[in-house]
Amino acid sequence: MQILSDISSLASYKGCTLVPTMGAIHEGHRSLVRIAAAFDEPVVVSIFVNPKQFAPGEDLATYPRSLDRDLEMIAADGASAALVPPEDLMYPPDEPVWSPPLPSVASNPKLEDLHRPHFFSGVCTVVARLFDLIQPSTAILGEKDWQQLQVIRSMVQMNADRWPAIHIKSGPTIRESDGLAMSSRNAFLDPANRERAIALSSALAEAIKLPPVEAELTMQDKLFSADLDIDYAVVRDAQTLQAPQKGQPQRALIAATLNGTRLIDNAAML
Ligand code: AMP
Repeated sequence: MQILSDISSLASYKGCTLVPTMGAIHEGHRSLVRIAAAFDEPVVVSIFVNPKQFAPGEDLATYPRSLDRDLEMIAADGASAALVPPEDLMYPPDEPVWSPPLPSVASNPKLEDLHRPHFFSGVCTVVARLFDLIQPSTAILGEKDWQQLQVIRSMVQMNADRWPAIHIKSGPTIRESDGLAMSSRNAFLDPANRERAIALSSALAEAIKLPPVEAELTMQDKLFSADLDIDYAVVRDAQTLQAPQKGQPQRALIAATLNGTRLIDNAAML
C-alpha cells in the first residue's frame, strides 16, 4: 500500500474509490474499505483529523490517533493507498480553500446542525477539498453518520458541474455485539458508561417498530432512564430530515452525551 502525502502522488489515483476517515480505524471504517475493495477501481483511504469540523472546546486535541495500526488494517482490507495529508496540503496557508455553499439538509433539520453549528461547514470543506484533489469516481460513507451522508449526497448534487463523475455510496452501521454502534469516540467510555451507552441502540431497536410519535417518546424515555443527556431523539424523513412523510422512508436518529462523550446513532423505521 502506498502512503500519499503530496499532490503529485495523487495524480495516478484519479477515478479511484475514496473512503474518507479521521483515522482511529475500527470495524466500521474497515467495512467501508472492504466494500470499496469489491469495486474495480483502486481504493484510497484518507486519514485526516479535520480541525475545521471541531469547535473550540470540542475533542480535537484528544481525538484518538493510531496511524501505524490504521495503516496495517486498511492495507489488510485492500486499500491501494492511504492519503495522510499534512495540514497545509488540505488547507494551504497562501491559498483560499473553497467552502461549498451548505445544502439545506445541513442547516434546516436542527439536528447535528443545531448542536454542532460549525460541523457541516467543516465537513463539506474537507470533503470538497478531498474531491478536488483526488477526483475519485466513488466515495463511500457510513450510514452511522446519517445526516452527514445526506449532506454530502446533496453537496455533490448541487455541484454536479464541478464533480460530474462522483458517485456517493454508503455502507451500513457496524455494531458491537451488544448493539453499540462502533465509533472512535467509544474509546472515551469507561466501563460504567460503556454499559449505559447501549441505551442508544436499544432505544432505536424499540422505536423502529412504532409509529413516529410513539417512537420519539419511547426513545426519550429510554435515554432519560439511562441518565443520558439527550440532544435529540427524533423520527424524520430519511432523505430531507424534515418531518416524516407517510409512505416515504423514515429514519430514527439519536444524539446523546454520557459524561462528556457525545454519541450518535440512527436506524431505518420499519
Ligand atoms: P470518521 O473517521 O468518524 O470521520 O468516519 C469515517 C467514515 O466511517 C464516515 O463515513 C463514517 O460514517 C463511517 N463510520 C464511522 N463509524 C461507522 C460504523 N460504526 N459503521 C459504518 N461506518 C462507520
